[in-house]
Amino acid sequence: MFEIRHGIEVYYENKKEKRNIVFFPENIYKYYDTGGMLFEAITDEATFLITTKLETMIHDYPGYADPLTIESVTDGFKWLYGTVQDEERPVVTELFRSGFTEVIKSVLTQCEHEDNVSFENIGAFMERCYTEYFDNLKALSAFFDALAADAIGTADDFQQDVANTFKRSTEDFYTLYKRKCSVRKGNGNVSVETHQITNYLQLLVVEYYRLKKEGKAVKICANCGRYFIPKNRSDSIYCDAPAPQNPTRTCKEIGSQVKRAEERHNNPGVREHHNKMSSLGMAKKRAKDKGDDDLLSGYERLLRAELKRFEKTLTDNTQVNSEEKK
Ligand SMILES: [Zn+2]
Repeated sequence: MFEIRHGIEVYYENKKEKRNIVFFPENIYKYYDTGGMLFEAITDEATFLITTKLETMIHDYPGYADPLTIESVTDGFKWLYGTVQDEERPVVTELFRSGFTEVIKSVLTQCEHEDNVSFENIGAFMERCYTEYFDNLKALSAFFDALAADAIGTADDFQQDVANTFKRSTEDFYTLYKRKCSVRKGNGNVSVETHQITNYLQLLVVEYYRLKKEGKAVKICANCGRYFIPKNRSDSIYCDAPAPQNPTRTCKEIGSQVKRAEERHNNPGVREHHNKMSSLGMAKKRAKDKGDDDLLSGYERLLRAELKRFEKTLTDNTQVNSEEKK
């Protein structure tokens, strides 16, 4: 039988300092803040590793045409183990191994129990496993998106249903994965939770539950659209990452400023003014090219009049706004 991977072991002490110790095979361990494992898993690099790269490595497998046997499955999976890995992303690497093992087992079971499921070679078998694995990832990202949209209040009906379903079952699943014990430390007993995590769904449940306990949630930044977890104020709508409009400042620093500028830009009055100015500007240029001085000065007058009219609407609006505030 091919090697079964057991995923990661997450060790969590119930004390003030909120962090996880994550154990990987071969006694390697690393510290993660709450939500940190999840954020390692949703980076573009991580997604590339377990989708595009995984698919490419299956196509490039030297034994692709070998007949399907337990030995060839073992060899094929060893190839994927060795090629789909990233030392900087140990959670992603290890959960790929255990998660893909689960998918292989599920597809092998289908082969045993369903007559019409058979594979020409190991390559075709691995591609089928990839499809099933990819479907799992798609379902997960739907959960993740729905939860983030729910946290910022933009969920549509479908996302709301998905988020509610997930939230209802989180506690049950969390309890299912959890083993609790008490450990003696220098300053008394500390209660410890351990979680065996073998796939992304379990990871999402554990992280989501723990974030909720800390009064936090994964949100979508109102400026850059990236996912983030507000560090202090849970009602924050902007992230702490460099803003796309100005990378020397964070979204939190310039988010509300950008939003106000956008609101001005999206204002129908402002749009109308820009359109008018640009068509008058083009007409003026045509008159100039033709050497028609009368027409040219006429358009110049119209441009000045439009500017004046627009400035007046701006000052009127400001007066209205400041009166409203009073
Ligand atoms: Zn942002």
